[in-house]
Amino acid sequence: MGTTLLPGGAGKNVLGIDHACPRCQEPLTAPHMLLHCQNHKAQRDHLEAALHSHGVALNLSNVLDPKGAARSPVFSALVKYLLDCLINDKI
Ligand SMILES: [Zn+2]
Repeated sequence: MGTTLLPGGAGKNVLGIDHACPRCQEPLTAPHMLLHCQNHKAQRDHLEAALHSHGVALNLSNVLDPKGAARSPVFSALVKYLLDCLINDKI
């Protein structure tokens, strides 16, 4: 868990891409894209509501490595989040 091709992760070695979020100027890391970026707040609110409906709090561990019965619905909600944010090709 935690290795991505985002510019703030392993993707920093890819030339010609921006290493910072164009809105927040923070490094483009998984925590930024999934938990903090203001560009995706509306979509994140839906993700958080979906997680809460399964008794899961929104944090990096729960999103990337959900446990038990929540695993499938959390991954479904994560896929929806990535697609809604148009960042599915960046993670
Ligand atoms: Zn951002």
